Amino acid sequence: SLLLDGKVAVISGAASPRGIGLATARLFAAHGATVVILDLDGQAAAAAAAGIGPAHRGYACNVADKDACLRVADRIVTEFGRIDVLINNAGITQPVKTLEIDPASWDRIVDVNLRGVLYLSQAVLPQMQKQRSGSIACMSSVSAQRGGGILGGPHYSAAKAGVLGLAKAMAREFGPDNIRINCVTPGLIDTDITSGKLDDAKKAEIAATIPLNRLGKADEIAGAYLFLASDLSSYITGAVIDVNGGMLIH
Ligand code: NAD
Repeated sequence: SLLLDGKVAVISGAASPRGIGLATARLFAAHGATVVILDLDGQAAAAAAAGIGPAHRGYACNVADKDACLRVADRIVTEFGRIDVLINNAGITQPVKTLEIDPASWDRIVDVNLRGVLYLSQAVLPQMQKQRSGSIACMSSVSAQRGGGILGGPHYSAAKAGVLGLAKAMAREFGPDNIRINCVTPGLIDTDITSGKLDDAKKAEIAATIPLNRLGKADEIAGAYLFLASDLSSYITGAVIDVNGGMLIH
């Protein structure tokens, strides 16, 4: 059966062709949702949405820009009348060590990965409160839990760990409004975020250290997001779902 029939789902960072966001948009659409893709480039977002089907939309939104988040949320409510699901998926990484983190890099990584989760959530929460229902899922990372994944620097770990705290606090605050807020913590997923930074030999080396002996696929994170977005998870809030092939078992 269709798990998101008639729902309006907003997904940030979902224009990248091999990314987790677009895989999620496709899966949500297949489950009956109307999907709104947000990404930095509005044309790329619109093209990605059109590629899924004519009912879907793609708009420009830099999640680190609060006004942009408020404007796009208004536009979506005007167009569709509701927002049932928000997937705070947008993120960037940078492979540097502690002593190499300059102020601008700290700001950039924290702004997109953490501040962006706050701003886009702030933009949709009032509508979800009016509806007295909603589900928000936020992208963290194994990097937050084990102090570094494979590629992200300490600023990325800090930002993704911040997402866990922010999401848990929001889950407490908005539970009485029947709004659920959860996180996913992926291990290493084969998308373009690692492109140019990991060759096949290095990927094979990493895969050998993972209990399931392989990297994850974008669709496998989309599956966790679908669970959290749908009523299958109706009594789950403030939770963190590991999707890491066993890379971290705790
Ligand atoms: P990706 O680079 O394919 O996708 C990231 C998307 O976010 C891109 O479409 C990009 O344009 C968009 N984006 C970047 N900055 C933005 C901004 N300011 N506003 C709106 N959109 C913005 O990579 P991905 O692997 O699909 O990453 C998706 C999320 O998953 C990220 O938050 C990433 O940190 C997280 N993550 C990825 C992995 C992995 O191994 N691939 C592991 C853990 C967590």
